[in-house]
Amino acid sequence: MRTKIVAGNWKMNNNLEETEALLAELSAKLPDTKAQVIVAPTFVNLAAAKRSLQSSTIQVAAQNMHFAESGAYTGEISADMLLNIEVDTVILGHSERRAYFGETDELLAKKVKTAVEKGMKTIFCFGEELEDRKADNHFAVVESQLKNALFDLDADAWKNIILAYEPVWAIGTGETASPEQAQEMHAFIRKTIAEAYDASVADEVSILYGGSVKPGNASEIFSKPDVDGGLIGGASLKSDDFVAIIEAI
Ligand code: PEP
Repeated sequence: MRTKIVAGNWKMNNNLEETEALLAELSAKLPDTKAQVIVAPTFVNLAAAKRSLQSSTIQVAAQNMHFAESGAYTGEISADMLLNIEVDTVILGHSERRAYFGETDELLAKKVKTAVEKGMKTIFCFGEELEDRKADNHFAVVESQLKNALFDLDADAWKNIILAYEPVWAIGTGETASPEQAQEMHAFIRKTIAEAYDASVADEVSILYGGSVKPGNASEIFSKPDVDGGLIGGASLKSDDFVAIIEAI
């Protein structure tokens, strides 16, 4: 039975007071759910978020990390630093990191390897650009992103991998993949993993959809058999919207 997950990527939003206020609202409104709920505040507020959520089931993730153990990497954060404040989940490969910070599949493979070696859970993001979809190249792009960054992992490592299919054209644009497009791609992803590994790895990995998920479209997207939840950007910044999306799963 795959884990259902709703994760909120707060990106570069919310100062300390706003972080604490939003977490207090979320904790108070959190519905009874079997889904795992995760929030990813900015680095400087991770420790405060952990403290705020001490008696909550809401988990905390980082939005990025470096692959190296430690050293001369000014401005970067290591896996051990996250683990030291009890953050054991990291989002890697978000399209904004790929587009604005030049993160490649090769770099991401190193980051994922470090996360796996450190026993961390990775929410691995990937997805095609609009031109890829228009050129009917979206399956090939997604396959190569998965292959380049993840397929050197042992089957056992997949227990700590959560996938987030996020078509770039649907992120922050208000444009959503239709539930059918999401299902079609998620089924393709599972088939690709089954071919590279086996059916049990493919069946057990949670595949989230991300891209303009809102209270109004969440339940239709989540109703698809290969969609195990969502990675939510904009709508995770408003407690009522995020809670409504959690209720939709
Ligand atoms: C995201 O940034 O991962 C995302 C899905 O953003 P939004 O929900 O705002 O499209």
